[in-house]
Amino acid sequence: MTSFNSERPSEFALIAELFAPLAKSAPGALGLTDDAALIAPPPGYELVITTDTLVEGVHFLADDPAASIAKKALRVNLSDLAAKGAEAAGYLLALSLPRTVDMNWLRAFAKGLSEDQRLFDVLLHGGDTTSTPGPISITITAFGFVPQGMMIRRGGAKPGNLVFVSGTIGDAGAGLEAIKTKTEGHAYLKERYGEPSPRMKLGRALRGMASAALDVSDGLLADLAHIAEISGVRIEIDASRIPLSQELRALWGDDCVVRAASSGDDYEIAFTVPDNRQGLVKEIAKGRASTSITEIGRVVAGQGVVLLVENAREIPVLRAGYTHF
Ligand code: ADP
Ligand code: MG
Repeated sequence: MTSFNSERPSEFALIAELFAPLAKSAPGALGLTDDAALIAPPPGYELVITTDTLVEGVHFLADDPAASIAKKALRVNLSDLAAKGAEAAGYLLALSLPRTVDMNWLRAFAKGLSEDQRLFDVLLHGGDTTSTPGPISITITAFGFVPQGMMIRRGGAKPGNLVFVSGTIGDAGAGLEAIKTKTEGHAYLKERYGEPSPRMKLGRALRGMASAALDVSDGLLADLAHIAEISGVRIEIDASRIPLSQELRALWGDDCVVRAASSGDDYEIAFTVPDNRQGLVKEIAKGRASTSITEIGRVVAGQGVVLLVENAREIPVLRAGYTHF
């Protein structure tokens, strides 16, 4: 229970006007009039659930459009579900708002959510709204379903598996840099930072196919290190095979692969597959998932992640990704 300033309606009026419409088609959301929501996985399915917080000044910039902030908050969560092979179904929204946030901002925020709900076929199921003396904080908890036992874990990579990644790497990091340095142009890179594309179709197609997967949020090499550690294996990545966009090369030059593989916010899926599925996984990605994937390395016995350049020299990677602390 919170009281807002006069430019904003009460917490309850706000929920009724902006958020209840986003929950209307979800029976379990009970019109956002109860203490909690009900979620029933379809028979034979398990609930997959994940949460991510976006804080103003850390994950987005104060003058980013509210609709883009909303979409990013939802999409980074959907990306986690995609990487686990889950079908996204819904989400909860916890908002902490400073008094400076007005109704125009909130309407644009809700509109952004509404557009993405249609795009990704998810519905709002509840949340919390409070005021804060600090910056805007947005926590979304997204959930979805996988057939029992089919969630793709980080821990299943085996020596002999091949390593793949979707899309291109480093675009968002370059976009963020272009925004921060007020560099004109580079719209594609800026959009890759502001509105990532969670690879929902690919994730689903990788069920029963990938031995391990995760979404790339902190940097390709840093995230692959999580698979290596949890799976108890070593991952070798060929620097020359890491997919880079033309737009990225135009800004950072052709020699930017280490930087690209160490910068965050890609929201691509990195995954491993048994080598006898190499052809099949490429076929599925192209067909059913209509998502580009690239083979970038292999899993071997040992530990850690190494980046190999053409003459098989190892590049030491000092700062592999973004860490908060
Ligand atoms: P309580 O006081 O029991 O925590 P609230 O008054 O916070 O309940 O919330 C009332 C209803 O509104 C609940 O169904 C809750 O899920 C929903 N709700 C509150 N804030 C949000 C939000 N930001 N987005 C979506 N639903 C919300
Ligand atoms: Mg509450």
